[in-house]
Amino acid sequence: SAFKKLGLIDILVESCEALKFTKPTPIQEQSIPAALEGKDIMGFAATGSGKTAAFALPVLQALYEKPSPLFCVVLSPTRELAHQTAQQFQALGAPMGVKTAVIIGGEDNMKQAIALSRKPHIIVATPGRLLDHLEKTKGFHLRHLKYLVLDEADRLLDMDFKEPISKILEIIPSQRRTFLFSATPSKDIESLQRASLRNPVRISV
Ligand code: AMP
Repeated sequence: SAFKKLGLIDILVESCEALKFTKPTPIQEQSIPAALEGKDIMGFAATGSGKTAAFALPVLQALYEKPSPLFCVVLSPTRELAHQTAQQFQALGAPMGVKTAVIIGGEDNMKQAIALSRKPHIIVATPGRLLDHLEKTKGFHLRHLKYLVLDEADRLLDMDFKEPISKILEIIPSQRRTFLFSATPSKDIESLQRASLRNPVRISV
C-alpha cells in the first residue's frame, strides 16, 4: 500500500486501512519518511490536512520498535484538540496496545495524577497543566521522554503558553526528537523552532 511505501510497518499500515485512510495526505507523504529517519520536523499544515497522523504514525512506529513508558508528549492549545489527538493515537495504536493520557486544565488533578502514575506511552496535554504536574505530582517525571510534538504551535503561542512551554523545554531531555506543526509561519514560530528543534526538515503543504 501507499502507507507501506512511506516506510511504515505492517501493524500501522493495517491501522490506516482500518480507519479507511486509503492514501497518505501530502503532509503525511512528506513528513513520515523524514520522521522515520529520525529527523526533527517543522511542518506548516492546517487542521484537516491529516497532520495528526503525520506525527502520530512515526511516533507509534518508534514506540513499537523500542517500547518505553512516557515516550511522547504532545502539547495542544485546546482541550478539544487534545482529546481529538489522543483519540487518533488510540485508534492508530490500538493493535499495539498503546496507552494514552489526556492532561488538560479544568479536569480533576488527582485523577490525572493517577493516570500519570500508570505511565502512559503518550501524553496529550495543554502546557499549563502538564507543567503543574511536572512541578507538583510526586513520582512523575519525563526523564526518558523520546518525542515532543508542538501541535498547532501558532495557537499555542497565541494562547499565552510561551512561559509554560519554555519551562517544559528546560525540564525535558534535550536528547529527543521534536515535531512542530503550525498553520502559518511567523517570527514567534521561528524563535520557538530555534529553542526546540535540531536541524529540522521543513515541510509546507
Ligand atoms: P487532522 O488534520 O489531523 O485533524 O485530520 C483530519 C481528519 O482526516 C481526521 O479525521 C483523520 O482521521 C482524517 N485523516 C487523516 N489522514 C487521512 C488519510 N490519509 N486519508 C483519509 N483520512 C485521513
